Parts: sequence; structure tokens; C-alpha cells
Amino acid sequence: MNPETKREKIRRTLVGQMETDLFLGGRWLPVGEIAQPQIEEKSIMSTAQKSGKDAKSAAERTKIVEEKRQRLNKVAGLVAKCSQCSLHKGRRNVVPGEGDPDARIVFIGEAPGGTEDQKGRPFVGRAGKLLDKIISAMGLTREEVFIGNILKCRPPGNRDPQATEITACMDYLYQQLDIIEPEIIVALGAHAARTLLNTNTAIGQLRGKIHEYLANPFAQPIKLVATYHPAYLLRNYSPDNRLRVWQDMQRVLEELGLPVPKK
Ligand code: URA
Repeated sequence: MNPETKREKIRRTLVGQMETDLFLGGRWLPVGEIAQPQIEEKSIMSTAQKSGKDAKSAAERTKIVEEKRQRLNKVAGLVAKCSQCSLHKGRRNVVPGEGDPDARIVFIGEAPGGTEDQKGRPFVGRAGKLLDKIISAMGLTREEVFIGNILKCRPPGNRDPQATEITACMDYLYQQLDIIEPEIIVALGAHAARTLLNTNTAIGQLRGKIHEYLANPFAQPIKLVATYHPAYLLRNYSPDNRLRVWQDMQRVLEELGLPVPKK
């Protein structure tokens, strides 16, 4: 491993460790004081690790990522024109999702809120800031994962998604997952978990174990971890709930064989 890559890995592990402490209730840690390296290592998470290929095939991997990006852009183009449910009437922007087209982890929320509707980007409001912290505590960045939602348009007043809206919208998410081929899906909250697992079970019972998401009976199953939605966590910001979410994220990292910042 080249020294720059090694240094960056150590830096990420330390930052992840400290972010974890912060997330779990630590008061102050010198996260900002660990300098960013001059050379940014491009996505340690994605294709390189996924395929296990060495540096010689970097060009080939870049091509795969580029193809996936283009296919995701096409889906986003369809979303932008969508009028399959009434939510299109009230939207300012669609929120198709964003991130690494070849991500190993995909986070799925419920639906865009006000800030997301304004910016056309997922999880950029208050709940998004908490999701950023969770991702950072995992030793990762937003750019290394993919973040999306069950619904691509904001329900009025942030009400719960309706069954007809989910039915109208889900094909876009199915297409996105089919393109990205993640190794694990993190379902954020009851709506995402129940929809993807096709169950009515409470989120409290769904979390704490590894499930399988099946796009269809013949599809390759994708591991799924359900956890509390960041907005729920904000409303119920107890040490116990934070620990539960962190344990879910530890499970995700363990499943992927990634370093787990310890608490
Ligand atoms: N809540 C969600 O479920 N998704 C977002 O994108 C923002 C908030």
C-alpha cells in the first residue's frame, strides 16, 4: 500500500473513532484538528474493494462506475418527469438520490422533507446532518455511499407516505438498486424497512438483525439492516437509542469486513 493511502486509512480510522465518541455522547474531540491530506484518495469503499482487483484494472473500474452513473442519471431523468402520483403537483424539486454509483452501502430513507425539496438532494436538513454524523462515525463519507428515499417527492407537510404513492414510486428505487448492486442496504426508519421487506413488523423488532432484500423471487438477495430514522433519533436523542443505532452500524461494517471504530 502506498504511504499516502496508508496515512489516509489511519486518518479515517481515527476520525471515525472520534466521531463515534461524539455521536455516543462525548463532549469535544479534536476531529477538526486532524488535517486533511493533500492527496484525496478516491472512494476507498467502492469498486476497488468490491471487486478485489488491483491497481492495473483501475481504468476498467472507472468505466464500470461511469456506466452506472449514466444509468442512474437516466433514472433521475425519468423521476424528474414523473407525474404518476399527486405528489408531483406540490414539488419544487424531485429528490432522486445521490452518491457513489457503485456504493457498497445504500441508505434508504422515507421521503424528502422541506430542505430536500428545496435543494433536490436527499438528507440535507436536520435529519441529514445527523445522518452525516452517523456515516462519519462509521469512518466513511457521503460520497462513498449512496443515499436515497422510498419516495422521490415531498409529501405535503411531511406526512407519512401513502400506499398508492409508494406503489407509484418504488420502481425507481428498484432500478437504482439494480444498477448500484450494493452489498448492504440500511433502511432508515419503519417506512423504508417495511416497504423493502414487505412486512408490517415494528421497526424496534426489525432492527438488531440482518435481513434479506429480494427484488424478485429469482434475484440475488441483498443484505438489509433496519435502524431508527435519524429524525426519530433527533426526537428521542437518548444514549440508549444512539447506542442502538451505532450497534446497527457496527453490524453493517462487520458484514462488509470494514474496520469498526470501537467505543
Ligand atoms: N427524511 C427522509 O426520510 N429523507 C430525506 O431525504 C430527508 C429526511
